[in-house]
Amino acid sequence: MTIDWKALANNYRDAYLDDLKSLIEIESVRDDEHATDEYPLGEGPTKAMERFLAMGDRDGFKTVKLDNTVGYIEYGEGDKTLAIQSHADVMPAGDGWKTDPFELTIKDNKVFGRGTSDDKGPGLAAYYGLKMLKDQKIEPKLKIRLIIGTDEESDWTGMKHYFEVEPQPTFGFSPDAEFPLINGEKGNGTYEIKFGNQNGEEFVLKTFDSGLRTNMVPGKAVAFVETDDNEAFVEKFTDFLDNNPVAGEIEATDEGVKVLVTGKQAHAMEPKNGINAGTYLANFLNQFDFEKDAKAFLNLAGDVLHDDSRAHKIRANYTDDIMGDVTMNVGILKFDQANGGMINTNFRYPKGSSDEIILEALKKVANNVTELSHMVPHYVEKDDPIVSTLLGVYERQTGEKNVEPEVVGGGTYARLMDRGVAFGALFPGVEDTMHQANEFQPIDDLIKAMSIYGESIYELSK
Ligand SMILES: [Zn+2]
Repeated sequence: MTIDWKALANNYRDAYLDDLKSLIEIESVRDDEHATDEYPLGEGPTKAMERFLAMGDRDGFKTVKLDNTVGYIEYGEGDKTLAIQSHADVMPAGDGWKTDPFELTIKDNKVFGRGTSDDKGPGLAAYYGLKMLKDQKIEPKLKIRLIIGTDEESDWTGMKHYFEVEPQPTFGFSPDAEFPLINGEKGNGTYEIKFGNQNGEEFVLKTFDSGLRTNMVPGKAVAFVETDDNEAFVEKFTDFLDNNPVAGEIEATDEGVKVLVTGKQAHAMEPKNGINAGTYLANFLNQFDFEKDAKAFLNLAGDVLHDDSRAHKIRANYTDDIMGDVTMNVGILKFDQANGGMINTNFRYPKGSSDEIILEALKKVANNVTELSHMVPHYVEKDDPIVSTLLGVYERQTGEKNVEPEVVGGGTYARLMDRGVAFGALFPGVEDTMHQANEFQPIDDLIKAMSIYGESIYELSK
C-alpha cells in the first residue's frame, strides 16, 4: 500500500491545532511547593498527561495511567514493542513573553506558547502520526506505546518508574530534540570537591561566589578579600582585565575589597561557548599569597581547572572518533570563612572514558572529592534499524541526502532504552526557543514532523 503521508498529515492540521491548544493551556510546570502524595510534582504535569491520555481514549486507543507521573497510549499487539517517549511537563514560563505563555497563539504561521517546541507540540505530532495509522486501519505487527512522562525537565520521575516496572521496549525514539537524529549521548558526571575554611594572615579570602548550577558555565563571580596593599592589588586587577577576555569591577567596602568578574554564561555541554567568570576570578587571586585552605581552593580553581574545557591538566582528556571529547565545566565555586570551599564540576564524556577515570583524575589533584551523580554514555550503532529506518524516512520526506546521525552532550529520555534515539522535532536551521521566552514552532514544521512520524511508525511496525 502506498500512502501519501504528507497529504494525509495535512488533513489533520485543524484537529492537531485544537488539541495542541488544549495541552498548552495547562500550566504543567513542576511545583514542589504544592507537591502531595497524590501529586508528587504538583497537579499541573499530571493534568496535562491526563488530557493527553483523554485524547487517546477519545480516538479509541487503549490508554493506561501507571500512576500520576506516567502513562501511555497503546496501539497494536505483539511480542515486540516500539516505544515513543514524550513529556507533558514544561519549563517555567520566565519573563519576556509577548503573549500569554499558556495560551496557544497563532501568528505568522507559527504557534507560540510554552511547550509548542518542548515537548507538547512534537509529542502531539507523534501522537497524530500514530492516529494516522489507526485511521488508515493499518494493523501494526508489534505493540506501539506512546509513553508520556511528567518530569522530563527535572528528575525524570515517572519515566524512570515506567522503566522499572515495564519491560524494556524492543526499540524506540523520543520526539524531544531535533532532526535529523541523535544516536549518541555522552556520559554525564558531577563531582563535588570540598575544602576547609582556613586562611593565612596577610591575604584573607572572606567569600567567593560563582555559579548557580553545575550544568552552566558561570557568567559572574564575586569575592571579598583582605589584602596587604589595596593599591597594588587594584593595579594588578587592571592589568588582569587588560590581558584576559573578561570584564570586572573592584571597590573597597566595609567587608573588604570586593572583586567582581563578568564572563559569559553557556550550557555545560560545550564549555568553550562560555567564559568561566569563576575560574578567571580564582586565576587572578591565585597570584597573591593566600594560604592554607583558601590557597588550595584558589589554586585548584584558578590554575589546575582553569581554561581547560578538555581536562588536559588533570589528564582526564580523551577523544572518541564518533562521540568526541571529554568536556569539563567548573559550574559552582564557593568559599566562606564558616563553611570553607566547594567546587562542583560537570563532565560529559564519550565511550572509552568513564566516571571512574574522571573520579581518579580529580582525586589526584584534590583531597576531598565525591561523585554527586552520573549517567553512562549512550550510543546506538548507525546500522541499527532504529537509526537507518528513521533516517531513511527523514531523507525521503525532506529530500536531504546522506544525512548523518549526531552525538550530543545533553541527555534525552532515549537513553533509557537500549535501542533508543532522539528524533525531531526541531528542523535544521530553525531557531531553537526551547526553555526560552516566546517559545514557538512553525506550524508547517509540526505537520511535516507528523508526516515523518506517521511513516516512521508505519515502517518500524510492518
Ligand atoms: Zn523536552
